[in-house]
Amino acid sequence: MVSPDKYIAGRFAADWIAAYPVVSDLCALKETAWVNPDKLPFAQAAAACPLTFADIEDAAARLERFAPYLAAVFPETAATGGIIESPVRPIPRMQKVLEERSGTPIAGQIWVKLDSHLPISGSIKARGGIYEVLKTAEDIALHSGMLHLTDNYAVLAEEHFRKLFSQYSIAVGSTGNLGLSIGIMSAKLGFQVTVHMSADARQWKKDLLRSRGVKVVEYASDYSIAVTEGRKLAASDPYCHFVDDENSKTLFLGYAVAALRLKKQLDAQGVTVDAEHPLFAYLPCGVGGGPGGVAFGLKMLFGDAAHCFFAEPTHSPCMMLGMATGENSSVCVQDFGIDNRTAADGLAVGRASGFVGGLMRPFMSGCYTLQDERMYTLLAQLADAEDLYLEPSALAGMYGPVLTQPGQLLGAYTEAALPAGTLANATHLVWATGGNMVPREEMQRYYAKGKALAQQ
Ligand SMILES: *Cc1c(COP(=O)(O)O)cnc(C)c1O
Repeated sequence: MVSPDKYIAGRFAADWIAAYPVVSDLCALKETAWVNPDKLPFAQAAAACPLTFADIEDAAARLERFAPYLAAVFPETAATGGIIESPVRPIPRMQKVLEERSGTPIAGQIWVKLDSHLPISGSIKARGGIYEVLKTAEDIALHSGMLHLTDNYAVLAEEHFRKLFSQYSIAVGSTGNLGLSIGIMSAKLGFQVTVHMSADARQWKKDLLRSRGVKVVEYASDYSIAVTEGRKLAASDPYCHFVDDENSKTLFLGYAVAALRLKKQLDAQGVTVDAEHPLFAYLPCGVGGGPGGVAFGLKMLFGDAAHCFFAEPTHSPCMMLGMATGENSSVCVQDFGIDNRTAADGLAVGRASGFVGGLMRPFMSGCYTLQDERMYTLLAQLADAEDLYLEPSALAGMYGPVLTQPGQLLGAYTEAALPAGTLANATHLVWATGGNMVPREEMQRYYAKGKALAQQ
């Protein structure tokens, strides 16, 4: 527990807690929730936002240009014509399990967005991470005069392009999944690529990257140090592009494209989103770029009908701490005596992106935290109910549909935000952010742990 006399970002800990009582829950590692008092009506929020819908369309068009190349070099994307996309579907059996276990009837229907099953790198990072590498490659290829916007980008697989890209390098700091996406994509194009990995990154991820010719640098410390060191090394090399997970608008827009694709998928399945049929999205949050980008896209498409929540582990609630105190990236969880140790390695981030916290302030509905044990329990329950196997991080969103029900931690938000009776028409979209690349034995350990916890 943080000492009340500790001085943090201009105030004593006791004063932070007095001003923002939820900080006391965070320090006590208690599961808690925060409703954003600064959320604005969508039109007002969008009018003041420096990023626009056109920016998302620009990113989507770039991904379309690369589709023939991706279909050629990653056969697993051939079926979708080189578009990296995941299925979305209802999970009625899991909904029943959640209702029974929590003793709470859930009004509305729970759906899951299976970014866990995205091709190439099996996590949400296959959106933003791969997009930023592709944009970098396009910039270089266009500048060289060897590529034109109207060309069929399948030519990028040819040797002279690999030779061009091999003169450049790409670097990134990562807890794992971002490193996988950046590493696999960069190596495929022919870039020299270095992934700076924190201590909590899994061995299998390091092994997989090395097997693809990626240079992996390991750090004994956490994610922020890996990023800081990576950024420093990259800055001294003019031919190196550093993928800045904390500040990159490119990553952010790559993630946002998900919303355009989702809208088409929902339309095709007859799911309406409007004032009478709200969409609740529950997004596992680490540094914030992935869930922030997706939430941005959802708000741009669905406006006031979309209600977006960040979900974080009780041991790494960096976004909630930053947003609740209004300090964004000026504070980290360690400042408040929170250890940033979680089994949800995609979410093991102590300091959130200041860019995302600031940009998303008028759009987000709120944040909540949950314990690692709950993520494991949900992991096993989902596997049993729906035969879907996710990594622990990807379960953070699964508790959201319980929390937004009347009487629960976020129930007051729902009652204030929705016209009476509309919660029953809600789509609760749980964003499942990763899992497909996890080796079988590792997944079996996750499942066994969750199963044991679920029986307690
Ligand atoms: C990275 C990641 C997240 C969160 O994305 P951020 O951009 O770090 O907020 C969530 N789940 C998984 C599995 C991830 O790999």
